[in-house]
Amino acid sequence: MSENSRKIRLLMELRRQGISDTNVLSAVERVPRELFVQDAFLDQAYENIALPIKHGQTISQPYVVAFMTEALKVGPRMKVLEVGTGSGYQAAILALLCRRVYTVERYRVLLREAEERFAEMRLTNITSRVADGYKGWPEQAPFDRIIVTAAAPEMPPVLIEQLAVGGIMVLPVGRSTTDQQIVRVTKNEDGSIATEKLMAVRFVPLVDGLAQDE
Ligand code: SAH
Repeated sequence: MSENSRKIRLLMELRRQGISDTNVLSAVERVPRELFVQDAFLDQAYENIALPIKHGQTISQPYVVAFMTEALKVGPRMKVLEVGTGSGYQAAILALLCRRVYTVERYRVLLREAEERFAEMRLTNITSRVADGYKGWPEQAPFDRIIVTAAAPEMPPVLIEQLAVGGIMVLPVGRSTTDQQIVRVTKNEDGSIATEKLMAVRFVPLVDGLAQDE
């Protein structure tokens, strides 16, 4: 089967699984996932599964990426923070849907490789740096949207602070891999927050501090 027909099959599967936002589906169509996976998994780039990347991390399952992106309700004028750049795949999807993506990763090597992919795709609206996502990106706050792609034991308070009024954050929350939920947090006009549990998932953990990878 050709790469293109694999991609079409994946898009049909995402639709069948309930992804209906055409902007999200077209972003999945436009981002070459084969650029973001390791060579050993190239033939599985358009399978609807998570795949390993360096340092024991993973590029998320396309369905989970599409689900979280849809839940985030991203608009073209928005400024979005992503915590957990990983391969850069989620950031690339977001870059096609919003004005600017700020993304942070605790592994220098992962970030450098993700940045090479952004350059190859000529995505000029992604700003990235090595940082501890628990601290967010204070110089750029507030953000219209925040997405966290690693599971926190509980909602990180600093990220809630860095969310704009009316803003939305989508993140996996849970202490163990068997008890994680995608949660959507909305910041109301009066500063209070509303939370909705959307779906059970399995993510790698959000880890405190920078990684010693070099
Ligand atoms: N969005 C990524 C998914 C990567 S997996 C993609 O599309 O490929 C989650 C990533 O979060 C891992 O790369 C991990 O190193 C990173 N991470 C975990 N804790 C972090 C933290 N405190 N700050 C920044 N990144 C973190």
